[in-house]
Amino acid sequence: MTFPTSRTLQADVVVVGGGTAGLAAAFAVGRKRLKVLLVEQHGFCGGLTVYSMVHVLDGVLAQTDFTKLAVGGVAVDVLNRIQAFGGMGPVDNPPETPVFDPEALKLIADEMLAEAGVTCLYHTRLVEAETHLGRVTAAILHSKAGFWRVEAPRFIDASGDADLCARAGAAFEIGRALQPMTLHFQVAGLRGGLDWKALERTCHDVLAAAFARGEGPRFGGPWVLRIRDNEISMNCTRLYGNALDPVDLTAAEVAGRKNAWWVFRTLKERLPEFADAHFVQSGPSVGCRETRRIVGDYQLTEADVLTRPVFADTIGLGAWPMDVHPADGRVGFHPHKENPPAPYRYPLRALLPKTLENVLAVGRCASTTPKAHGSSRVNGTSMMMGEAAGVLCALAHAEGRTLRDVPIARLQETLAAGGAVLDPHHLPDRPATWRMGHLGHAVGEPVFYGGLQ
Ligand SMILES: Cc1cc2nc3c(=O)[nH]c(=O)nc-3n(C[C@H](O)[C@H](O)[C@H](O)COP(=O)(O)OP(=O)(O)OC[C@H]3O[C@@H](n4cnc5c(N)ncnc54)[C@H](O)[C@@H]3O)c2cc1C
Repeated sequence: MTFPTSRTLQADVVVVGGGTAGLAAAFAVGRKRLKVLLVEQHGFCGGLTVYSMVHVLDGVLAQTDFTKLAVGGVAVDVLNRIQAFGGMGPVDNPPETPVFDPEALKLIADEMLAEAGVTCLYHTRLVEAETHLGRVTAAILHSKAGFWRVEAPRFIDASGDADLCARAGAAFEIGRALQPMTLHFQVAGLRGGLDWKALERTCHDVLAAAFARGEGPRFGGPWVLRIRDNEISMNCTRLYGNALDPVDLTAAEVAGRKNAWWVFRTLKERLPEFADAHFVQSGPSVGCRETRRIVGDYQLTEADVLTRPVFADTIGLGAWPMDVHPADGRVGFHPHKENPPAPYRYPLRALLPKTLENVLAVGRCASTTPKAHGSSRVNGTSMMMGEAAGVLCALAHAEGRTLRDVPIARLQETLAAGGAVLDPHHLPDRPATWRMGHLGHAVGEPVFYGGLQ
């Protein structure tokens, strides 16, 4: 399709999507002093962690020993900055994963990208790709300014939905039974000092009883993410459909809001812990767990997660259990954390779309089987992939090579020098400082934007 583009931009690397994977990718390549353009349809980075309140980096800690890191590098840098800012949630409960205030990440992402010299184009969406002989030559972007083209020798698809790869004609898979979507919601004013795991169980029992009586909607968990001692977000609503279809997505938003309020009111009526609580907000957008997965040079499988083969092209480690939310209408908790895998190696080939020479796909849309996707889709693992893709682009640029021709040892050395964890037998300790803080970090001078100050 031809678009009436009004402006052409140039970059060394274009990153499509500013979620956890895209943020790590853009930061990793930007700090190597390349010209990076990050295109994001929302007005901020952080992706699902912010626009859907999934403010937790699962996969950063080894699930067989919560004191050890399975992912280092940019993910740890981000968490250290969140800690210094005072935005880290209580890490002792739950102990398996770092939870944070999404507003902290929003600001820190802007700061990190500015520090790395990345140009961000917010409120801009990738709508088409131009290709020539297996290479993406330009991306077509759309905003209220109309259609723009951006040309670059290398692209990173961090859209979660593999939008760039799909538009460029690369092969992808999409399950027939997709994991349900969820609209998270935030509640404040809960009674302090609660046992949060016990609270999840109590909430579950109330919702399960209502569902059994035919009074309540389908629900998952619920899983509680603590932002502060008396403030949480709740992962609970269950919404079925294909997030690539705006009709399904609209229905999910409408039902999600209704059901989030129903859950909140029901819990407030029945549970003393919620007596003084109020509903702060529902997620700005519904969260989608699964859409397209690219077909890469390699597809990560459930056997890889469980048997942990040695990959010569290891770029980092995955660590989360295969968390596949049931698509069959089951409610409540689903088994997945009972026998968590030890950290397993993640291969570069799963980021390389088979038929494209100059594109990497990272995060939720990398090449996996549906079951392995349940493990590798989480935020910490997505950041590991983003960082590896960014570093690979920088090396390919510096050496004038294609992505597949960069010596893997050089990539691995560079990643390790940046703090990435590549050897499951030598896991670094988790920083001891990750504790919930208060607003500590100075935000600097305000920015006087535009002509009027
Ligand atoms: C309800 C729910 C609960 C979850 N719970 C957890 C959890 O507890 N822990 C955990 O670690 N993970 C969890 N996950 C998974 C995790 O959040 C995602 O898989 C992860 O965020 C993937 O990161 P990403 O960067 O690949 O994708 P995303 O976070 O989806 O980021 C993609 C970005 O690309 C942008 N974008 C998309 N298309 C375009 C386009 N065409 N043009 C421009 N921009 C575009 C989007 O706006 C977004 O910012 C959950 C997911 C959901 C939906």
